[in-house]
Amino acid sequence: MQYYHLKNGVKVPKLGFGTWLIKGKSCIQALSAALEIGYRHIDTAQIYENESEIGEALSTSNIARKDIFLVTKVWRDSLRSKALIKSTEESLKKLKTDYVDLLLIHWPNLLAPLKETLSAMRYLQDNRMVRLLGVSNFPVELMKMAQQEVEIVCNQVEYHPFLDQSVLLRSIRGNDMFLTAYSPLARGRVFKNPVIQKMAKKYNKTAGQVVLRWLLDQDNVVAIPKASKPKHVKSNFDVFDFKISSTDRLVLASLRSTKGRLVDPNWAMEWD
Ligand code: NAP
Repeated sequence: MQYYHLKNGVKVPKLGFGTWLIKGKSCIQALSAALEIGYRHIDTAQIYENESEIGEALSTSNIARKDIFLVTKVWRDSLRSKALIKSTEESLKKLKTDYVDLLLIHWPNLLAPLKETLSAMRYLQDNRMVRLLGVSNFPVELMKMAQQEVEIVCNQVEYHPFLDQSVLLRSIRGNDMFLTAYSPLARGRVFKNPVIQKMAKKYNKTAGQVVLRWLLDQDNVVAIPKASKPKHVKSNFDVFDFKISSTDRLVLASLRSTKGRLVDPNWAMEWD
């Protein structure tokens, strides 16, 4: 496993397991398979309605809690102080744990004062219910505003070869922060791209493995592919035994566009 090392000593496994749209039995099965294979960074959210299943899979595994990097997110209707604390307490209960490693604001919502949200998160951190604080889907300027209030270590955003995130990455790299790439496989689209398909053949890997390798080799970048099929869960972890040449890295980087966004709900703020 590769890690992103924060200055405070926390090690973040660079390859994580995304769980959006996996619920019930299939969530328990997929996560149990993932833990068995070696995934130690798990990404969930209150809105995914699978925290109980994740709690069950984690508690029945033989893995010590300290060896897991567990991330959850607070939904945008729970960003006022009381609601945020209640939501996180509920998450902890469902996840069957005393703390999460990282708590994220899932999406910005300007109807809730950012200062208030962050100070509630800080309260949870001071009370050891949360180790690290972060945001998700925050454009650069808003992320910088948040950083002025509390220590933010992560911005979780969409990132794959078809979406240019260079502006945000520059800002993240200038701080002690990491970018968690969500939808790193472009929700399956990387498997259909002829340039990536050709490159995958050359390395005797799949298109997904090539893209994950490319992401993991980037400074301050962490990736959380989601897979419900066990063979996909396994395949996405098989990315630690090869290197992509610098020329091919440039080829992958050249696929990017500012218009390649796949997750863009009507409540999103203006992107960078
Ligand atoms: P993704 O990881 O880019 O793609 C998931 C899709 O790719 C699924 O359809 C999956 O199929 C398929 N897939 C995975 N591995 C494969 C393989 N080896 N071969 C063929 N197909 C494969 O997309 P995502 O779920 O949108 O993003 C990943 C995670 O990021 C989410 O689960 C969630 O944790 C997080 N996320 C966060 C936000 C946010 O607002 N913060 C938004 C979106 C996502 P199967 O399921 O059938 O295996």
